[in-house]
Amino acid sequence: MSSTPTTEPVTPAVTRVALVTGASRGIGRAVALRLAREGRHVVLVSRSEGPLNDLKHQIEQAGGGRGVGGKASVRAVDVADGAALAAVVESVAEEFGRLDILVNNAGITKDGLVLRMTDEDWDVVLRTNLTSVFVATRAAARAMMKNRFGRIVNIGSTSGVVGNAGQANYAAAKAGLIGFSKTIARELGGKGVTCNVIAPGFIDTDMTASLPQPVKDGILAMMAVKRLGVADDIAAAVAYVSSDEAGYLTGQTICVDGGLTMS
Ligand code: NDP
Repeated sequence: MSSTPTTEPVTPAVTRVALVTGASRGIGRAVALRLAREGRHVVLVSRSEGPLNDLKHQIEQAGGGRGVGGKASVRAVDVADGAALAAVVESVAEEFGRLDILVNNAGITKDGLVLRMTDEDWDVVLRTNLTSVFVATRAAARAMMKNRFGRIVNIGSTSGVVGNAGQANYAAAKAGLIGFSKTIARELGGKGVTCNVIAPGFIDTDMTASLPQPVKDGILAMMAVKRLGVADDIAAAVAYVSSDEAGYLTGQTICVDGGLTMS
């Protein structure tokens, strides 16, 4: 007989350990702050140690909600360096004896129309936005399977769902994440590990800061919700998908885009 679904939020008996890549700014920073507020110990990853240390300090000062202090650790690494990234993920799992939540968020753009796109711009975007996700997931999977609990959240993009002129490399990487995530969902679902994609539309961060105003206005006109997204919009979705109570949600791509695509 199946167990009765509960409407009560599920509070884990242990402190869940969450690793967030690209935590130094933008969406990753908001995700890290949100997960810390939910009581997770958050491992902050990006290339720049200074901003990560500042964020760790902020998390510790702010407290972790539910009466406990905020907990964070810092690991500076370039996610495009597969061996270094795998070593970081494995060392976190070993140090804490668990790695419950992996948020693969670090990403870059190297935009250009396909006729002018260089091999280097293709390679670096695929390595940073897609290969790193494979490497980190593979490194995290063992600990998650052993503990029979895992939440892998990959930050995709609506560009990977509907395409976007000038972003062949980026859209290919983000579309690749969708097939990858569905496969991981199938491979690890029986071990209590879920894998989903959160696909933002247009979020106000450094990544989108240099877009000309007419482009921003054009995007805004296509949105059902008449405002640009903020990093906290994505953090809220990640918080749910990575929670204990989201154990029946896997293999999905959730577009958090103000109704831009409705795909
Ligand atoms: P930002 O440019 O604001 O931040 C990118 C983050 O990724 C930084 O923390 C950066 O840290 C980190 N990063 C980049 N390259 C590497 C690397 N090689 N190794 C380690 N860390 C790296 O981007 P956003 O916050 O806007 O984007 C976050 C994610 O959301 C990305 O995957 C992006 O594709 C996706 N997204 C964003 C959208 C938007 O509108 N902003 C829309 C759709 C998807 P550091 O430089 O310190 O290493």
